[in-house]
Amino acid sequence: MTGVLEATEVSFTYGDRPVVEDVSLTVEAGEFLGLVGPNGSGKTTLLELLIGLRRPDAGSVRLFGEPAHARSTGRRVGYVPQNVSDAADGMPVTVREAVRMGRYPRRPFGRFDDEDRGAVDAALRRVGIDDLAERRVGRLSGGQRQRAFIARALAAEADLLALDEPTVGVDAESREAFYDLLGELNEDGMTIVLIEHDIGVVTTHASEIACLNRELYFHGDPAVFVETDALAAAYGGSQSIVHHQH
Ligand code: ADP
Repeated sequence: MTGVLEATEVSFTYGDRPVVEDVSLTVEAGEFLGLVGPNGSGKTTLLELLIGLRRPDAGSVRLFGEPAHARSTGRRVGYVPQNVSDAADGMPVTVREAVRMGRYPRRPFGRFDDEDRGAVDAALRRVGIDDLAERRVGRLSGGQRQRAFIARALAAEADLLALDEPTVGVDAESREAFYDLLGELNEDGMTIVLIEHDIGVVTTHASEIACLNRELYFHGDPAVFVETDALAAAYGGSQSIVHHQH
């Protein structure tokens, strides 16, 4: 397997407040990593560090074999931030236009050809929103917006999807359907890193779990995770038991 992500002894501080401390973990191609931990435990910050949106104060992150902040890695990552719904509210573009933005890096002068149009159509079909192509993004439901952002990543031919609590505010049925879609994309080879607060949901769908509370408490098999006391330790914060299967 090929390493997609490699974080080595990564630490990050906001002002004088350490929020990520000495985290080392690797993500192999084809993995589906669920990142869990209590509120404010540094999950979003770690995800941003992993995909090069922030630079660590100490340690290093390599993404596709390069420093994570290197520009060339950017187009290989489809990032769906937590506030995608808010961000999309004011977007005066149609779904098709938003998905086409995924092709911009390869067409800096905006001359789209049949290959681009085909890639956009295929991405819309893949996530099941082709019937919404001409609708304004701001008029989509939360779940549909998440799909539109994923379609944009597919149109960009991203190799890694990074999602920050994608199903917050989405009803249970849509959430299951959304995880089914992620499972299919993962089976087709997409590497996924996802923050999810619902332990039951994420341990069902992810192939690996990383449990964080500033430090890494666990990294490994979901079935092992639910059997260990790492979860209680991370959420209770009383003990620091590190289980690292790699
Ligand atoms: P999580 O995603 O697990 O909720 P975050 O990474 O969002 O955790 O935040 C970790 C801690 O850092 C929290 O205490 C949060 O208040 C703080 N924090 C997050 N973003 C900033 C920021 N831009 N400036 C200062 N503190 C921040």
